[in-house]
Amino acid sequence: MNTLDLDFDRNHIWHPYTSTISPLNCYPVSHASGNQIHLESGEVLIDGMSSWWAAIHGYNHPHLNAAVTEQLSRMSHVMFGGLTHQPAIGLCQKLLQMVPASLQHVFLADSGSVAVEVALKMALQYWHSRGESRPRFLTLRHGYHGDTFAAMSVTDPDNSMHRLYRGFLPEHLFADSPQTGFYEPWNPLDINDFQSQLEQHHQQIAAVILEPIVQGAGGMRIYHPHYLQAVRKLCDQFGVLLIADEIATGFGRTGKLFACEHAGIAPDILCVGKALTGGYMTLSATLTTQHVAQTVCAGEAQCFMHGPTFMGNPLACAVAEASLSLIETGDWQTQVQQIEHFFATHLPPLQQYGMVKDIRWLGAIGVIETHQPVRMAEIQAHFVRQGVWIRPFGRLIYLMPPYLSTSEDLTQLVRAIERALQQSALFFQ
Ligand SMILES: *Cc1c(COP(=O)(O)O)cnc(C)c1O
Repeated sequence: MNTLDLDFDRNHIWHPYTSTISPLNCYPVSHASGNQIHLESGEVLIDGMSSWWAAIHGYNHPHLNAAVTEQLSRMSHVMFGGLTHQPAIGLCQKLLQMVPASLQHVFLADSGSVAVEVALKMALQYWHSRGESRPRFLTLRHGYHGDTFAAMSVTDPDNSMHRLYRGFLPEHLFADSPQTGFYEPWNPLDINDFQSQLEQHHQQIAAVILEPIVQGAGGMRIYHPHYLQAVRKLCDQFGVLLIADEIATGFGRTGKLFACEHAGIAPDILCVGKALTGGYMTLSATLTTQHVAQTVCAGEAQCFMHGPTFMGNPLACAVAEASLSLIETGDWQTQVQQIEHFFATHLPPLQQYGMVKDIRWLGAIGVIETHQPVRMAEIQAHFVRQGVWIRPFGRLIYLMPPYLSTSEDLTQLVRAIERALQQSALFFQ
């Protein structure tokens, strides 16, 4: 095998949220299989990230590979305007069987951020059709909804890079994020700020958008289902649409197929992405009710005004359908329960380390919040030496491993974190 030109990578290729002035080294991957990432150096890493929530069944899965290969021999893409195909139909049928029955219409989009853009546009067009001007969205602090402009505008301005764009972004409304943790006794005062913002501004608000139960990239916060139930009730009471962004939480990650199920609620608009294709390629979907879809299409435009070039890409749809068929077997339920049980047993003892501020978990998500931010290059190298792939950010070290991870794998992941906490002077600022 040729040696990779890593200098070229460092000097010319942008990675997510990185600098061209002081780029950190990236670890070159030769291949991946199951929950193992094989580096070009020959080192093998146990994956703790599922490539950002996506690779729920692990890498190089025979069933998913077969679906892509089979579809590739037919066609990798045709335009979706005026044409349709079995991969899209099969995928959307399976999706509609999994989500609340009230959701009846699927818009296939390219990425999570675009699914959010589509959801926001649906809500705006819905009110436009009804002859009302409702230019604002209400969302939660510590939320994250993506990196495109409308998605940034509903992402927490104080806990992200997006404050740089102030002045370019529409100003929406932010309610206090839920304070009651998932396993804590519910504090009814928690909903007060959200409620008063809705009371005050509802005539201007097209929709509420939030991440149900788990706020991901904005802080890995896991909150009480009563908060979500109260949000649903208030949205109904004030006649405001509810958009659930399940791009991170969807497809079993929290122990339920969708996080909304923890609260027993259904949104008016649902965004899914990330794990939709089992992590094989980019694809997302925005689902809505018949009422919203028909109101949108009865308006001045007489259609929903969006249609990406690669909409309904057959390769992506085929692998997504195959991933959903793996989910249908139900094995994920036991796997995620076992991971949750492992976290519940093995994460709380980490509280003994002075650097640890809080420990939380739900389903196949485990979070260690620290007092100080990590030293990224140092801790990354430490994890690689320990034979694991864990990618912290700021004061958060978190695990969201593929569902097939064994307790030996999880032990190795948690032990690597524990060793970093034991030598906190080396690995934290
Ligand atoms: C990752 C994420 C997005 C954005 O998805 P991309 O595919 O990165 O555009 C939106 N919302 C949530 C909750 C996410 O976790």
